[in-house]
Amino acid sequence: MFVSADRLMAMENGEKLHAISFDWEGYAPRFLTYSFGNARLQELELNAVSFTVSDGQYCIGSFRAEGYRPCPFRRQVVNFAQCEFCSRSIIPIQKCLFDPICDGELCDWDLCRREHMVYIAFYGSKTKVGMTSSGRLTERLIEQGADAYFTVGTFHSRKAAREMEKKISRGLSIAQMHRSADLMNELQKGPDYAAIDLIYRQTGARIGEKFDLTPSDIVLLKDYPIRQPLESKPAYSSLIGVHEGEVIGVKGRMLLYRNDGIRALNMAALPSRVITLI
Ligand SMILES: [Zn+2]
Ligand SMILES: [Zn+2]
Repeated sequence: MFVSADRLMAMENGEKLHAISFDWEGYAPRFLTYSFGNARLQELELNAVSFTVSDGQYCIGSFRAEGYRPCPFRRQVVNFAQCEFCSRSIIPIQKCLFDPICDGELCDWDLCRREHMVYIAFYGSKTKVGMTSSGRLTERLIEQGADAYFTVGTFHSRKAAREMEKKISRGLSIAQMHRSADLMNELQKGPDYAAIDLIYRQTGARIGEKFDLTPSDIVLLKDYPIRQPLESKPAYSSLIGVHEGEVIGVKGRMLLYRNDGIRALNMAALPSRVITLI
């Protein structure tokens, strides 16, 4: 992309914000940043994007009873958005977040003890098996941008749910994840509810037979701020660099903006990065 000298200046001199979180309140996306200049949290409007994303990743700090606390060490991070110090109050054993090793008896973490549900989610007509704590079910599916889902069972702990998720994935060859870049066709086309309903009935029946579980009704998630089908297939943008253009929709992790066609920016990868407003 051609960048003029004055734009380059703006990029260097623009306000620097630390990307803290990207989440959803119902069907409203919320991008929270921390301004280094005035030392406070601010929500960035998502009608248009106009910023650069830098390479380095820094701990996002923590939310505590008394409010937000930036990382006291400004520590660089790699795989997680928080350093061990900042995540300690929330995640006692980081492994228990992804591949739980206990039912709470080792980590003493509330999440490991909590009731979880295993679900099948639809992204267009691609399916995925996953699990989440029962209280976060809808929130979790919306943050992933699912078009529909059904649950297949409720489990007493995170570990028990993860084990069933793996069994279903292996037994029925259903993916446990899709790379965002691989969902661009689905994003363009939008959901085909008749196709989804057919897969729901077939997959639900197979899960019922093979695992002795009782699939729920299907739930459609339709109210994302996006109009599908899109006029062209979005190009999956690399995170680092310039993002500038009118936003035409947000769904799950993906923010779509217009710049020489449609570009897709993975908002979930932003927390921990430093962005510079142009
Ligand atoms: Zn930290
Ligand atoms: Zn645990």
